[in-house]
Amino acid sequence: MNPSNLDIKNTQDVNLIWQECLIHIKEQIPPLTYLTWFTPIIPLELTDSTIKVQVPSEFFIDWIEEKYRCVIDNAITNVLGHKYNLSYIVLNTIENEDYENIINSSTEPEKKIQIRLDKPLPAFDTHINIRYTFDSFIKGEGNQLARAAAVAISENPGQTSFNPFFIYAGVGLGKTHLIHAIGNYIIEKFPSKRVIYLPSDLFTVQFVEAIQANKVNDFSSFYKGMDVLIIDDIQDLVGKEKTQDLFFHIFNTLHQSGKQIILSSDKPPKDLKGLNERLISRFQWGLSADMQPPDFETRIAILSNKCKTFGMTLSQDIIEYIAYNVTSNIRELEGCLIKLLADSSFNSRDINLELARKTVNEVATRKNSHVSIDTITKAVCNFFEIAETKLREKNRRKEIALARQIAMYLSKELTNSSLKAIGLNFGGRDHSTVIHAHNLINKLIKEDFTVKSTIEKIKSLI
Ligand code: ADP
Ligand code: MG
Repeated sequence: MNPSNLDIKNTQDVNLIWQECLIHIKEQIPPLTYLTWFTPIIPLELTDSTIKVQVPSEFFIDWIEEKYRCVIDNAITNVLGHKYNLSYIVLNTIENEDYENIINSSTEPEKKIQIRLDKPLPAFDTHINIRYTFDSFIKGEGNQLARAAAVAISENPGQTSFNPFFIYAGVGLGKTHLIHAIGNYIIEKFPSKRVIYLPSDLFTVQFVEAIQANKVNDFSSFYKGMDVLIIDDIQDLVGKEKTQDLFFHIFNTLHQSGKQIILSSDKPPKDLKGLNERLISRFQWGLSADMQPPDFETRIAILSNKCKTFGMTLSQDIIEYIAYNVTSNIRELEGCLIKLLADSSFNSRDINLELARKTVNEVATRKNSHVSIDTITKAVCNFFEIAETKLREKNRRKEIALARQIAMYLSKELTNSSLKAIGLNFGGRDHSTVIHAHNLINKLIKEDFTVKSTIEKIKSLI
């Protein structure tokens, strides 16, 4: 693919990029700070060298600029390769005409901030991310039931027996996306319904603030006035007794008046140890649905769909390579694609299998420390004193062929990678070549003592 055709700046999917930035930001600041200042930020648009985000108030802008601008800049540079301007849109609750106000927080052009008070102006921030919709949610075997229930609820909020609707799944499997999709759909279909989304930690933070400001009644009435209450990551209420008590009352009021409650968690209700029993039993009143990691076909569909959003074309080989190698969750799948896009865009490199291989390995090693095909390749090449590229070439010289076969053998033995993935890592060879290499080395280990000790030595290098 020609990088000149690829312009990440034009991509509409700022959300993915922002999620990647948040992963870096989260590592740099305390959890409560993150929740207070970063969860309410909604990314809106990525234009030429500017990221536009929505924030709840002007105070937010001052605070972020003063305290966290550096952290944000670093995260953006990490993900996209260079700095971007930030432009903020403030959600204003006063019904007022549209106006624009540009302030320069610094003389540097990069630090210019734009503030726009937008209209129409909602009475409260729903925290719903408009990019998480059913349209952009790919169906697969692992999410079939949860998705179908989500659609049914969206058509008839509060009127189905799926109340509460409780979704549970591991990290990065689409819980947040799906519950936002419900919110978006309801807001569109029933504009008069009051819908609100928030992570349970933010609910706790707001509750604590309400206690300090002596406004617990206002806080409680606000949530009791919702038609649809969506709370993400409810497992984070564990150990927070007072918040649980208040949530219990809000839950009862809403449920009794036929309002829809939607909850997500990393485990099923019965496994939420440390959560009040009466809450657990209420969570089981409606429908609990889990989501499983996507199968290979779904991973391909998700990657193809994301490519379309990015306006990039990747060869089937590369898509398959990523889908084969990144299996645990969808966030990593997307992270890999973004990194690939950013690398190729800013370093003007073609996206080929070699770059994909490097990116997958980087993403994989950043996230888990177990042995990767890359580490094995390095160890084998170190031992034989040959360049890593030799293992990916067609070179049939005897010692190169042996090194390659040993690397394939160890990849099959020490990683969970599939035969296809291993073959792709060694110059796009097919699975039968990997099987042949594995059988051959197995045989040699039994027959030839030098091969056996070579393998042992290489293993000690890994
Ligand atoms: P969770 O809340 O379970 O940790 P998220 O909802 O944040 O996971 O999903 C992680 C990323 O993967 C998001 O960018 C989301 O849009 C994407 N994603 C998850 N499931 C799907 C899907 N079925 N189709 C398309 N994108 C998905
Ligand atoms: Mg989530």
